[in-house]
Amino acid sequence: MNHFKYKNGELSCEDVPVSRIAAEVGTPFYLYSSATLNRHFQAFDGAFDDIAHITCFAVKSCSNVAILNGFGKMGGGADIVSGGELFRALHSKIDPKKIIYSGVGKSELEIEEALRAEILMFNVESPQELDRIQNVAERLGVRAPVAFRINPDVDPQTHAYISTGLAKNKFGVPVKEALVEYLRAQDMANIDIIGVSCHIGSQLTKISPFIEALHKVKLFIQQLEQKGIVIKYLDLGGGLGINYNDEEPPLPHEYARAVIDELTSLDITLILEPGRVIVGNAGILVTEIQYTKVNTGGETDKHFVIVDAAMNDLSRPSLYDAFHSIKPVLEKSGTPLLVDIVGPICETGDFMARDRLLEEVKQGELLAIMSSGAYGFSMSSNYNSRPRVAEVLVEGSGFRVIRERENYEDLIRHENI
Ligand SMILES: *Cc1c(COP(=O)(O)O)cnc(C)c1O
Repeated sequence: MNHFKYKNGELSCEDVPVSRIAAEVGTPFYLYSSATLNRHFQAFDGAFDDIAHITCFAVKSCSNVAILNGFGKMGGGADIVSGGELFRALHSKIDPKKIIYSGVGKSELEIEEALRAEILMFNVESPQELDRIQNVAERLGVRAPVAFRINPDVDPQTHAYISTGLAKNKFGVPVKEALVEYLRAQDMANIDIIGVSCHIGSQLTKISPFIEALHKVKLFIQQLEQKGIVIKYLDLGGGLGINYNDEEPPLPHEYARAVIDELTSLDITLILEPGRVIVGNAGILVTEIQYTKVNTGGETDKHFVIVDAAMNDLSRPSLYDAFHSIKPVLEKSGTPLLVDIVGPICETGDFMARDRLLEEVKQGELLAIMSSGAYGFSMSSNYNSRPRVAEVLVEGSGFRVIRERENYEDLIRHENI
């Protein structure tokens, strides 16, 4: 459920007509609903209320500090994957004791920054990373709290680019090797083993791969206990899918029920790292139609709707061939036409949708690219020297710009002739 609905024939975000915001901030822009963000966070986090848990929002999915700050106020933590994300999380007043650091390539400096911030836990992804964390912690005279990210070799049945828990993926340590690493870590002077983690992929639409991974992690925790290693935190990662088109992902409370049922015998705090499921349907990308045109001469006439948003603003269609529903901001009733909705970038891969049925639209009208809250702005770039777009947050009948649109000076700010 989200708060983007037609009211009096016009798409609105909560109580604000989208066109009003467009008139004020220009296009394109990302638009988020705080009511949807709050609702999704609380529905997810609340689903685990029966057990000790921390919901660490995956910062990479949507990194704006206003949004992170909102989750922090609701008790949320952060799952980070870089020094930059650590900086954002701290700046957004997220409690460092609720920050989890994931990722395969943590630099020495990033490790140092996270140790100084006293984050909750590092999810270690290789033997060399463990050595590096031990060295940095020793140099700083502190102890580093760690979990290993286990690669459970489970097929999440999602897009190949976003499956992460298969043996062939770059993430984590295979279960077989992890035991040796835990024993090695146990003997390190500046390492505190506190957890086990896994994250098997993104946009999962079934519960079974999560449970399969959880079974493997539970068995592993038993093995660790036999070696005298006590685990306080079980981090199950993120990955719960959302409805972009006709998917039917489990609801957070169904997912939570299945997970909680598996944990009854364990005395642990569960950590969750949801991203997409919280923000995906809480944001849209609003774009203005620049031109419509028909290219003839092929087998059939090809209709194009050329908009002012492009693959640098929202890369999911190009990168993953992802489906985003696209709606006219002014509700239409005419017969739909088969069109490609494309951006201005000089790449054939620059499309928002291909062979899509869309009611007849005109130059100057607005389109909403739905379900763009996750991996939307946070993956955007300046390709083709396009300033990155504004981000706007609606709260009830008001809205505010939470990231200004970049200008041309921003494009060359760090360059020298
Ligand atoms: C990307 C990522 C997440 C979030 O994934 P979603 O599919 O957005 O929920 C969580 N944990 C880790 C380690 C990740 O890399």
